[in-house]
Amino acid sequence: MKKLLYVVLDGLGDRPIKELGNKTPLEAANTPNMDNLAKIGKQGIVYTVGKGIAPESDIAVISILGYDAHKYYTGRGPLESYAEGLKVNDGDIAFRVNFATCEVGSNKLVDRRVGRNLTTEEATALAKEINEKVKLTAYPAKFIFKNTIGHRGVLVIYRQGGKLSAEVTNTDPAYERHGVFGVAKEKFEDIALECKPLKDTKEAKEAAGLTNEFVVKSRAVLEASEINKKRINSKKMQGNIILARDAGDGLPKFPKIDKLYGLKFGCFVEMPVERGIALLTGMNVVELPLPTGNMENDYGLRVEKVVKRMKDYGALYIHIKGPDEPAHDGNFAGKKKSIEVIDKAFFGKLLPKIDLKNTVIAITSDHSTPCQLKAHSDDPVPLLVVGGNITSDGLKRFGESEAKKGSLGSLDGPQIMPLLIELIK
Ligand code: ZN
Ligand code: ZN
Repeated sequence: MKKLLYVVLDGLGDRPIKELGNKTPLEAANTPNMDNLAKIGKQGIVYTVGKGIAPESDIAVISILGYDAHKYYTGRGPLESYAEGLKVNDGDIAFRVNFATCEVGSNKLVDRRVGRNLTTEEATALAKEINEKVKLTAYPAKFIFKNTIGHRGVLVIYRQGGKLSAEVTNTDPAYERHGVFGVAKEKFEDIALECKPLKDTKEAKEAAGLTNEFVVKSRAVLEASEINKKRINSKKMQGNIILARDAGDGLPKFPKIDKLYGLKFGCFVEMPVERGIALLTGMNVVELPLPTGNMENDYGLRVEKVVKRMKDYGALYIHIKGPDEPAHDGNFAGKKKSIEVIDKAFFGKLLPKIDLKNTVIAITSDHSTPCQLKAHSDDPVPLLVVGGNITSDGLKRFGESEAKKGSLGSLDGPQIMPLLIELIK
């Protein structure tokens, strides 16, 4: 068996951009290392969750690891909560939440992300106050609220002596539920919504009731908080409402990945949700040093870890957040730059240190994030496989339009892993 390095660049895929000479950020970027791999490897395109679906990262990662997201996914809330160390048993309800800014006295939203400058320290202090001061009394229940990064957080509500159902609507107007999938809306009104039961069951009604009680009571705590008063005094928005979405009432029950492929998996992940998926699928999370703000330096440290830990695993799954964030801001120059830094500081330092004859490298993405849309799309992502006995399909560069001509053709996300397993044999 050869070793497998499965590298996923978050939100890599894009569309041609006029300012980049009608190239995508990946095509316009100077990427000599990935291009050298492209010359000796094969490419194809991947619809990670399926044609017509613009996926969130979580269902996309589940799919490209080879799991049917429709079958296993239970919502973003449970995954993130689990990743943050909160218990989510069947019948507990877990949400992904945001601190947001509302007009005082109304539900009109001023900013869904508190101006994107709520610090983790501020959010931690606010979360502490909420946990101490809010008591749910509509039904016997407890909750844990936990902030994660910046304005983001999770909320789990535990119904004592009963169960809750996740068949409830979001209070965050920017997302709607399609079954257990959370889908970003293209257009929405800036109003914090009420949580409503989607089914006429006791479990769903109680879940909605408790969620609304939490939103109202936490808002009173937030508006009275010294942290928010300080923010207002320094002309910043206050984080005075919690928006809840993507409820789930249990954890996904994935077959363990080692058993599925007969391969021991380690992984490098950055975001809590990817960590949750990693733990639930049975991948071993390789701990990374905290980001220093210097990406070149951080990628270099990651390469050292890859080289050091490769002997412990049959496969390493490496998820790099880089390109997604500038794409959400519509910053195509930033996305191009982020790809160039990955090429230079990750692949540039990695390639001299590995034996490609005994290693298969796959490079792909979880979804496209076209800068023009500032959101995920259903555009397919490029896939490059190289190393081992893989021969060239004659393409010169790694990129979306080249990948369309590649000999791997068009794949669905869950087809990648079985292909890779064949290639490392
Ligand atoms: Zn993503
Ligand atoms: Zn994204």
